Amino acid sequence: MKLTRFISASAVQKRVAELGLKINRDFKNKNLVVICVLNGAFMFCSDLIKHLKVDVEIDFIKLSSYRNAKTSSGKINVLKKLNCEIYRKNVLIVEDIVDTGLTIKYLINLVKKHSPSSVKVATLLHKSDVSNIDFKLDYVGFDIENKFVVGYGLDYAQKFRNLKGIYLMN
Ligand code: 5GP
Repeated sequence: MKLTRFISASAVQKRVAELGLKINRDFKNKNLVVICVLNGAFMFCSDLIKHLKVDVEIDFIKLSSYRNAKTSSGKINVLKKLNCEIYRKNVLIVEDIVDTGLTIKYLINLVKKHSPSSVKVATLLHKSDVSNIDFKLDYVGFDIENKFVVGYGLDYAQKFRNLKGIYLMN
């Protein structure tokens, strides 16, 4: 298995800081509940929240759809439920990557059932040629082509999450 450099660690950090600034502007004087989607978004979320200057609560949800494969099974399982109160709160879902969009659609619907004030999405990566979503993603790190990537939290069979940059897997 060969990894090819795709987005450098410094480019990732620069972009995460930019997204942080934008979120600070949008949520000035508002409360914010950040929902980190495990496992893939843990690194992005942890770096992103360090840039936030608004009052922020963090919770985690764990879903599965990919199951050690490079193509989606299409079925979503909740492996860890939310534990926070999101009724009348501003929710920011933090994802690693939006591919088909199935997972993010599922999550948004799940969050909306709890009547939050607002729901926004931050995703580090978006495969815009692939995703089939009928809404705008609020904060996108990088729009990427339809290739399988690893690193900076993203795995292949649970490996490569620790890499600081993002790599294409051949
Ligand atoms: P979707 O439901 O949008 O098709 O897929 C979302 C999930 O699939 C992501 O949260 C991520 O776990 C996984 N995924 C999609 N594309 C990739 C990729 O290129 N690399 C890795 N490592 N995971 C991916």
